[in-house]
Amino acid sequence: MTPTGTATGSQTGPQTGPRTGARTESAHAALHARHRAVLPDWLATYYARPIELTHGEGRHVWDAEGNRYLDFFGGILTTMTAHALPEVTAAVAEQAGKILHTSTLYLSRQAVELAERIARLSGIPDARVFFTTSGTEANDTALLLATAYRGSNQILALRNSYHGRSFTSIGVTGNSSWSPTSLSPLQTLYVHGGVRTRGPYAHLSDAEFTAACTADLEDLLGQVGGRVAALIAEPIQGVGGFTSGPDGLLAAFRRVLDRHGILWITDEVQTGWGRTGDHFWGWQAHAQAGPPDILTFAKGIGNGLSMGGVVARADVMNCLTANSISTFGGSPITTAGALANLGYLLDHDLQGNARRVGGLLRSRLEAVAAGSPLVREVRGRGLMLGVELVEPGTDTPSPTAAALVLESAREHGLLIGKGGRDGNALRIAPPLTLTVAEAEEGAQALRAALAEAAESLG
Ligand code: PLP
Repeated sequence: MTPTGTATGSQTGPQTGPRTGARTESAHAALHARHRAVLPDWLATYYARPIELTHGEGRHVWDAEGNRYLDFFGGILTTMTAHALPEVTAAVAEQAGKILHTSTLYLSRQAVELAERIARLSGIPDARVFFTTSGTEANDTALLLATAYRGSNQILALRNSYHGRSFTSIGVTGNSSWSPTSLSPLQTLYVHGGVRTRGPYAHLSDAEFTAACTADLEDLLGQVGGRVAALIAEPIQGVGGFTSGPDGLLAAFRRVLDRHGILWITDEVQTGWGRTGDHFWGWQAHAQAGPPDILTFAKGIGNGLSMGGVVARADVMNCLTANSISTFGGSPITTAGALANLGYLLDHDLQGNARRVGGLLRSRLEAVAAGSPLVREVRGRGLMLGVELVEPGTDTPSPTAAALVLESAREHGLLIGKGGRDGNALRIAPPLTLTVAEAEEGAQALRAALAEAAESLG
């Protein structure tokens, strides 16, 4: 295995992308040095030798050296339909030829059309949609709305949660390794519920787990003085390693929240748009809980364009007294692309594809797991699948194994993600157009990567 070796995946299938500009090791090193000189130290650290992606098509991406990879991470779940989807490319190009930006000062036909579709899909009655440029800004806005509506800065969040990188959203991040500061304008209370298989309630059945977490929430609320504004929760924790409580947990929480008048914010930044296969939104796995008061989205809707947003009941959305605009939120270029992307997703039933191909991929991963001493658990649903790794033959989380598998998978032409409470989960989230053949190809690459990692760990 050499770090610069041609990815195995590039030997199968057509080389449809341009192969010009193959770079030498020194050109790569020079770019990396320039990167380190002007960009923060914490960026481009995923691989020992960072990858420079130059273009993509379908479920594949190419690097500057001409290596092709099967993309099982989709730019952190942003490439929802496919790379270079002609429908999205054409919509963006057409809009770019007309006008790039107008701002929220003016009417926008596309913003109205997209908001109409999202409001309908959200399940929230009398919904209003506010567009932002990222998931962080969406969650900031949701927290602004909830705290203003309730007149309180107390927020409930799940342990092991991640909601963004702004000062406010860091204040509801339930894992200190993802929160660069412990200071926050919010007073956040963390509850159990995101991590099902580790922690104090790990040995409990689904029903017992739900009862224990709900009792924990009730107990907490009994002790807290003052008013709590909202609970913010990811239905499946993304950065947290694709973990979740049992289906129905949030419905049990909702009954408690309702007694206290506390709002429920569902963060669908990773779980939205059918990715989980069984449901269009992650909250729908807790159907009796819904609809939520506030829903946030981002990532997949733009297929890579910077779009996020908040959907809320009209009385919640309109509780702000000052004019609160987002200069780039809902810009013509992002709404044009998002409309084309969402249209494609719905017309081609990509939620159904996520369910079918995701189910097959999961069964393949379970078969791979059965033969690997490194895998403790395969989890998730649809095309949002996590693989938790441990030190061989133990129950000890192994971030080292996760890092090794990531590198090795790269050598086999496969890009995956990692994360999780202990940094030991592999995250698999390809574009929702993934084919059966690609699912098989990815599972094979992962099998090889796990075997190599197990070998090097002895
Ligand atoms: N919420 C969740 C669940 C996320 O996973 C993320 C990013 O990973 C965010 C919010 C923040 O989104 P962004 O990076 O677009 O600001």
